[in-house]
Amino acid sequence: METSYDAIVIGAGPAGSSAAILLARAGRSVALLEARPFPRRKVCGECIAASNLPLLRALGLGAALRRQAGPELRRVALWCGEDGITAALPAGAGGASPWGLALGREHLDLLLLEQARAAGATVLQPSRALAVHGDARGAGYGVDTADTGSVQRTLRAPVLIRAHGSWEPSPAEGTPRKREHRAADLLGFKASFHDATLDAGLLPVLAFAGGYGGMVRSSDGLTTLACCIRRDRLAACRRGGDTGRAPAGETIETLLRRDCRGVREALTNARRVGPWLAAGPIRPGVRVGSGGTSGFLIGNAAGEVHPIIGEGISMALQSAWLLCEELAGCADAFRCDARGELRRRDIQQRYASRWRSHFVRRMRLAACFAHAAMRPGIAAPLLPLLRRAPALLGIAARASGKTRSAVALPCAALPGFIQGSPP
Ligand SMILES: Cc1cc2nc3c(=O)[nH]c(=O)nc-3n(C[C@H](O)[C@H](O)[C@H](O)COP(=O)(O)OP(=O)(O)OC[C@H]3O[C@@H](n4cnc5c(N)ncnc54)[C@H](O)[C@@H]3O)c2cc1C
Repeated sequence: METSYDAIVIGAGPAGSSAAILLARAGRSVALLEARPFPRRKVCGECIAASNLPLLRALGLGAALRRQAGPELRRVALWCGEDGITAALPAGAGGASPWGLALGREHLDLLLLEQARAAGATVLQPSRALAVHGDARGAGYGVDTADTGSVQRTLRAPVLIRAHGSWEPSPAEGTPRKREHRAADLLGFKASFHDATLDAGLLPVLAFAGGYGGMVRSSDGLTTLACCIRRDRLAACRRGGDTGRAPAGETIETLLRRDCRGVREALTNARRVGPWLAAGPIRPGVRVGSGGTSGFLIGNAAGEVHPIIGEGISMALQSAWLLCEELAGCADAFRCDARGELRRRDIQQRYASRWRSHFVRRMRLAACFAHAAMRPGIAAPLLPLLRRAPALLGIAARASGKTRSAVALPCAALPGFIQGSPP
């Protein structure tokens, strides 16, 4: 089996699979490593902002999205306690399909992975990257991997793309260190429900003491409820509340049904499908540009945004695109020598600077929204203002990046890809 490639991509979430599609279609040999078997459910609100639809169409997912996704998201709401305010969502600049959608991650991630395979990427799954050996004097990277049968192999490539998300220890860290638990850690949860009565096309954001969340009608007729909650708040609910020592997910469901009228009403006759999923602690913050020689970071590995604005998938897809535009335009970046190393460093700088200029503002805004939503003392006084001017919710959505992509299509650096892409 071939063990040398032009590029190795670690992680087949939206970031990694998109990068693999783009580089494979640009004529590069790519190994895409994914630790888990697919399809798999994942903690995520599953909303895909309208700004991504042209990208997803170009990646070959247009028809599948139309077929499988939930209804178009045309309205946003803020649900806080017994109160609720609704406003129109601004249309995206994507022409034919200006509204966001929701699609289960068991579908989205599988569709992207299959596109990567169809584009010619070698998909190694389940296969975990265990350790990365650096780009010493431009010789490229070695990645030690193990599949489920513990078969170990080392892959080599001049270009390494880390798309392993931010919720598991990164392969470079070697033996996972146990991270200290902090009261302020944010833990992510998600569950799906049958027979919920959430209005089609409505995207409510939930604000509650110690956390925030969202609900949406997603694929397969299911409604997704996802949220983040502080570790200390969750512990207090599990200790003292009417739920006793119930599992964390059940505790959250009880809390949300009790403290949020909108959730209570939408879930009155609903049945949960499968268990609550948990992830985290989530790690909002910028990491791109750090550790210049440890490969390129995309998606959550590059930087994680508070999910209150539902822009993590956007940043995953768009960061992959920004990086691959740079790589596809530079054949020397795939050389295993000093010249290749120099080009990779240049690309790293340009990519990091474009990444920051597109995403840092929305990350700061999301952090402000998240901290306000988690503190009733701030969120509650804002409600009368929002009631007088509900359009502010739509303005906040626009400012969060929901309507404009960091990527301009068609893309000159990836001509083969754009011309060769399915409609
Ligand atoms: C509660 C919550 C709600 C959210 N809601 C939304 C939303 O509605 N809309 C939105 O856009 N975003 C949302 N997000 C954010 C979104 O889920 C993430 O930003 C997105 O999944 C990041 O994609 P990624 O490709 O970077 O990483 P991931 O999707 O995390 O994919 C990383 C992949 O890498 C694999 N991997 C990890 N380590 C290794 C290894 N060593 N070797 C091989 N493979 C490895 C993992 O198995 C995984 O499949 C939400 C997040 C949370 C916590």
